[in-house]
Amino acid sequence: MAANFVIPTKMKAWVYREHGDVANVLGLDPELKVPELQEGQVLVKVLAAALNPIDTARVKGVIKLPGFSLPAVPGYDLAGVVVKVGREVKELKVGDEVYGFMFHAKKDGTLAEYAAVEESFLALKPKKLRFGEAASLPLVIQTAYGGLERAGLSHGKSLLVLGGAGGVGTLIIQLAKEVFGASRVAATSSTGKLELLKSLGADLAIDYTKVNFEDLPEKFDVVYDTVGEIERAAKAVKPGGSIVTIVKQNKTLPPPAFFFAVTSNRSTLEKLKPFLESGKVKPVIDPKSPFPFSQAIEAFSYLQTRRATGKLVIHPV
Ligand code: NDP
Repeated sequence: MAANFVIPTKMKAWVYREHGDVANVLGLDPELKVPELQEGQVLVKVLAAALNPIDTARVKGVIKLPGFSLPAVPGYDLAGVVVKVGREVKELKVGDEVYGFMFHAKKDGTLAEYAAVEESFLALKPKKLRFGEAASLPLVIQTAYGGLERAGLSHGKSLLVLGGAGGVGTLIIQLAKEVFGASRVAATSSTGKLELLKSLGADLAIDYTKVNFEDLPEKFDVVYDTVGEIERAAKAVKPGGSIVTIVKQNKTLPPPAFFFAVTSNRSTLEKLKPFLESGKVKPVIDPKSPFPFSQAIEAFSYLQTRRATGKLVIHPV
């Protein structure tokens, strides 16, 4: 029998009513209206959320999606429990433990006690993962997987990851080795994070404070750029290889580079579930994390340093 949840009409949520620096415009609203469900959506009691650089860009107003309006709640990633389902929802049911990211999040995001999310963006949470761990994954693991797939990484090929210690980079390294069967993975970071890169499966950890990766004699079949170093990446790829970047740049990309933008699709999470259940692919969460819900602004300021290792999680919500 499905569990019954009492759903309040008001909830706690982080809200911005104008664009600007996060510390100036983001405030905790103790009485925001719980979002109403559209037919294909489920209402999730959010137990954990995670931050991504796009959250800052959205609050600042640097990125505006069609249909966006203020006031708005930031946040894409979540893990939680389904407490209500819309009329057109086919697979999920009340009580399911789910995780995913709110692609097209127009105004109501995941830094709130409840979120209304399209069923198609959510997958059942792997049992091995705690809610905070699960919330750290959806946006970055789908970015890592989608970029590697589009770049044509396959068994026996070599990969260079620019930015191996970030939210996306820590997943790229693991997926390249465990899922795509890369023969050799190199990745860049600052000195203190080289051991982490190796522990995730990197064969070569390059200290970018000491070595210019593009000057190394070794070249790679695929370069995955998470930093915005595309001209340098072009010097590190083998002839006939490919370069994927996820950093938007206002310039023409030098061939063979292309830009990849993630979309939310539960099928990638389902495909990767065995690797998450077995522990072959693991969430990487910054040691300063999780931040409690009340400290979302502190979490944002840390995110903006661009020095976080792996993911910044907000838990408990
Ligand atoms: P993070 O904030 O998690 O990245 C932080 C990490 O970046 C730190 O560990 C830091 O390591 C590393 N870093 C910073 N500068 C360098 C450098 N010059 N060389 C190597 N490593 C560096 O970011 P994400 O991984 O979440 O995202 C990365 C980028 O990708 C962002 O610009 C984001 O907006 C974008 N993105 C785009 C998506 C798309 O669909 N197009 C989807 C997801 C993200 P250290 O301290 O060692 O320097």
